[in-house]
Amino acid sequence: MLQPLLKRLKALIVFRVFFVILLAGSFYLFDIGFLKLPYPRVLLYFLASLCLLSFLYASLLSRIKNVRAFAYVQLSIDALSVIVLIFLTGGIQSWFSSIMLITVMASAIILNKKAGYIVATIFSILYGLMIDMQFYRVIPITYELTWTAKDFLYNIFTHICALYLTAYLTGHLSSGLESASQKLEEKDSDLKDLTLFNRNLIESLPSGLLTTDGSGKILIFNRAAEQITGISRTSAMRQHITEVFPFLAFPVVAGRRDGIIRRNDGMKTIGLTISATTDSEGNRTGDICVFQDITQLKNLEAELKHKETLAAIGELSANMAHEIRNPLASLKGSVEMLKEGILTGDQREKLMNIAISEMDRLNKIISDFLSYSRPQRTEFSWFDLHQVLDETVELMKNSVIRTDCVTIQKDFSDQNRICADPHKLRQVFLNLGINAIESMPEGGKLTIGTTQGSHAVTISFKDSGVGIPPENMREIFYPFFTTKDTGTGLGLSIAYRIVEEHHGTINVTSAPGQGTTFQIILPIGATNAAMKGKTKQELEPSKNGRT
Ligand code: ADP
Ligand code: MG
Repeated sequence: MLQPLLKRLKALIVFRVFFVILLAGSFYLFDIGFLKLPYPRVLLYFLASLCLLSFLYASLLSRIKNVRAFAYVQLSIDALSVIVLIFLTGGIQSWFSSIMLITVMASAIILNKKAGYIVATIFSILYGLMIDMQFYRVIPITYELTWTAKDFLYNIFTHICALYLTAYLTGHLSSGLESASQKLEEKDSDLKDLTLFNRNLIESLPSGLLTTDGSGKILIFNRAAEQITGISRTSAMRQHITEVFPFLAFPVVAGRRDGIIRRNDGMKTIGLTISATTDSEGNRTGDICVFQDITQLKNLEAELKHKETLAAIGELSANMAHEIRNPLASLKGSVEMLKEGILTGDQREKLMNIAISEMDRLNKIISDFLSYSRPQRTEFSWFDLHQVLDETVELMKNSVIRTDCVTIQKDFSDQNRICADPHKLRQVFLNLGINAIESMPEGGKLTIGTTQGSHAVTISFKDSGVGIPPENMREIFYPFFTTKDTGTGLGLSIAYRIVEEHHGTINVTSAPGQGTTFQIILPIGATNAAMKGKTKQELEPSKNGRT
């Protein structure tokens, strides 16, 4: 890279002194031709004054404002000095005419191409004049008589050519170098700006940011990270990611997760998003982790959940009380009328039957409610799904509901074994089946289908019944929501809870007047088996036997 002008000028001064000393010294050291010179003593004084001039330049350098002009002055004086030197060392016979070329080079390098040409021009004029004057013996330097006018002319010609050629070549090189160094400087400053921008960006991020190398050692730890973790950057830089976040296992897995860290002022919940950093070839080079303090959010969430639970309990109790009050009222009415004793035998019989059926209804409400609110333990085992569905259909046919005007079609897949709780699923299927039949009082068709994917099985109950109005869609899974006179509104809420226990989902689509489809998606087994810490073999005594 090119040095700044001031530095180059300093180098010129040092080089000049060095050159002068070398020149003066060499005359004595080698004892060459010094005495052959026309003015040996003057030359010595001249060289000494050049030395002194250089010291003057050096002392002025720090005080000069316009360094460029100063450089022009120095180089012009140099050009003159070189001509004087050539004059003193014999004019056309001087061995130092090549120093003109060096001065042109120095001008082009120190200043620019233009300065090279200017100095070359000064030399051409002064040298030409001096050689002419020597030829015509205007100036007092002798030359050998063998030198003809032609020789003089040719000498001037070659020197002028060499001077301009040197100016051109050096100027070309130095301008190329200058533009390259300018570009480099620009790039360098761009790079510095970018680094500064990146650092500012990272530091001003409101989220904690941490990056690690491939071994998990922390490389970047921003200000927000310090505030969130309570760990200073300097100590974090010496730590491993698992020391800052003890809930992580190394190598860390990319993704989102929450964890708790201990700080001096208590526990903090941290929400992190981790992703791997890779090089241009896609190899993992480390991890980048963005995180926030979500302690307050979690507390609020817990509070909200608590409030929701309280509200739900309140609503449930109110619904429960309402459900119990109806049968109790008709029971009370029946008993009161019986107490009056003015009824005929038939009427008494009828009232007794009403009382008994109301008691049955109360019992059903309570046992349904219990199975909803105090669910039994889920017992997972491998079993034949289609067999359980067949049994459900039989149960439905034998139950009190009229199934004679309803056709039931089975549309089963080939695969049929899943790992789940067969008794609980039977209850789900029965609830959905009964609802479907109840939705078709005028008769219709119920299609029970299964489809098996690689990880999940889908069981669907499709009926051609009355359908569910959109405004009821949200509420059908709520406990005690019913549109039926004798319904408890607990069937779907129990089904929902059981499917959730199996880590499955239950979806419903319905078109009022056309029918409804309930769809249950259950994981086939891996999730459930893993949940209980048992292998498939442990859970499955024999391939075909039902458990
Ligand atoms: P219940 O059957 O005792 O009313 P559920 O929880 O089983 O209680 O069902 C709640 C409500 O959802 C029903 O009252 C009914 O309005 C609606 N529903 C459920 N399944 C169907 C269906 N297949 N077709 C139409 N409506 C349905
Ligand atoms: Mg029901």
